[in-house]
Amino acid sequence: MLNAHSMDDQGKVRDGASSSQSLDEILNKLKAGHDRFLSGHSIHPHANRDHLRELEIGQHPEVAILSCSDSRVPVELLFDAGFGDVFVVRNAGNTCTTTTVASLEYAVAALNVRLLLILGHEQCGAVSTACGDRQGLTPSLLELVSDIRIGLLKHHKRLEAKEACHIHPRITGEALLEASKLLQGRVDSGDIQLHTACYVLDGGTIEWQGKVGGD
Ligand SMILES: [Zn+2]
Repeated sequence: MLNAHSMDDQGKVRDGASSSQSLDEILNKLKAGHDRFLSGHSIHPHANRDHLRELEIGQHPEVAILSCSDSRVPVELLFDAGFGDVFVVRNAGNTCTTTTVASLEYAVAALNVRLLLILGHEQCGAVSTACGDRQGLTPSLLELVSDIRIGLLKHHKRLEAKEACHIHPRITGEALLEASKLLQGRVDSGDIQLHTACYVLDGGTIEWQGKVGGD
């Protein structure tokens, strides 16, 4: 894992991944990719083997995205991105776990990723289950959805699945900053930004919810 960091130190930065880009530019690039997808004009950048070969010396993604494992949320397709563009962490319900925190810390500390996005989605099975009947779940699943439920109850009196799917990314974002001194410190200093969003399956639009933490 540390090899990636030392490769960074050797200054091999590929096109488009320059740290001189502002956070706004990086975010706008992500949004532009989604706009292309939404309008049916995806260009599928960086999707060939030649590009993959260029990445053999190291990866320099600009964005790290935590999303749900749901098969309807394929991150690279949604943002019209390719090899090396996005560092992706996925689990059921895009929740804050030790593995999630460690993965995003790696993205920031070793890969110099500066923009983090928590992407929830409507009709999320994990979040919906957290709002309803949790009988018959395995111990692991029960732990997962109970964590989501506790987070929702802390922030909201009422548990309604659709609304919860929109709120949950913010809750995950706040939990991540609470769990990671590294991420909290970088957000506080303005080095990185943590944004949240909710993907609306019906229509494919994304509700951009803005930053968590920072000024
Ligand atoms: Zn989901």
